[in-house]
Amino acid sequence: ETMIDQIAAGEVVERPASVVKELVENALDAGARRIEIVTAGGGKSLIRVSDDGSGIPADELPLAIRRHCTSKLDGGLSDIRTLGFRGEALPSIGSVARLSLKSRLMGADGAHEIRVESGRIDGPRPAALGRGTVVEVRDLFHAVPARLKFLKSDRAESSAITEVVRRIAIAAPAVRFELAGADRSPTVFEPADDDNALGRIAAVVGADFAKNNLALDALREGVRLEGFAGLPTFNRGNALHQYFYVNGRPVRDKMLLSALRGAYADVMARDRHPVAVLFISLDPDLVDVNVHPAKADVRFRDPGLVRGLVVGAIREALAASGL
Ligand code: ADP
Ligand code: MG
Repeated sequence: ETMIDQIAAGEVVERPASVVKELVENALDAGARRIEIVTAGGGKSLIRVSDDGSGIPADELPLAIRRHCTSKLDGGLSDIRTLGFRGEALPSIGSVARLSLKSRLMGADGAHEIRVESGRIDGPRPAALGRGTVVEVRDLFHAVPARLKFLKSDRAESSAITEVVRRIAIAAPAVRFELAGADRSPTVFEPADDDNALGRIAAVVGADFAKNNLALDALREGVRLEGFAGLPTFNRGNALHQYFYVNGRPVRDKMLLSALRGAYADVMARDRHPVAVLFISLDPDLVDVNVHPAKADVRFRDPGLVRGLVVGAIREALAASGL
């Protein structure tokens, strides 16, 4: 099992930021309203994610760290509402790091903790925790030097973690996020007002973006595009400030990046990049988010339709404001 887990780990866990992504998504799936992330050494020596979500029953702690044990597949693979659905993250992490999972099921008398080190399981045993779940990952890739070698500097890994948290935070505006640690200056995103979609976006992307955008809301053959496209004058020197979500899931997709570029082709110099936050929603049957375990890629049944929607909606919004 450990060997298989280590191979799977290469897929799911490329670097500390992918661990953070998986753990934060689990916290969101558990209905957390507050998520705290602490890192040290760029996440290589420590990643700790604490949440106030529903928690895990003591007898399910061993299952949570076993391969393909997921509590989230009730509706089948095509009906993926939660962010996690493969049951691969925790076992993969446990095979390449020292993993501790401490949790208190909502309403339970006490908390329990289970530890995994190089696939060896210790516990569950009683532990102290008021509510929710704390997942601690220490010494990532300590037993896989070949992977350690491919990691970047602490500073670079640390900012990749910040980037992951920023992307997820936009998709969950009602959740409070706190990111702290000796390797960074702290970031806090306070819960944003539900009626004010721009509140969290302003906190993440910048207050000036909130004043320099065109609101989008378009529908084409059942595919919905909502979001905010920056004014052409409000551009950047790189494409880092482009945020895409498909059914609430952060994605980084070549087609979407190129659609956005195409939408601005006539109004922006070629070495400049638009700032945008785009939410695409469609029938889960019309999109495959299962391409890769790390789940950043998507495969649309009809990419031309989605591309046309993005380009069309942004061009229309630009034209409507005389740009
Ligand atoms: P997946 O998210 O794909 O189900 P994971 O390996 O990420 O698989 O997690 C395994 C299981 O552990 C989840 O299905 C869930 O039941 C439980 N779990 C993990 N993290 C949390 C958390 N923060 N709060 C509550 N349950 C959790
Ligand atoms: Mg998960």
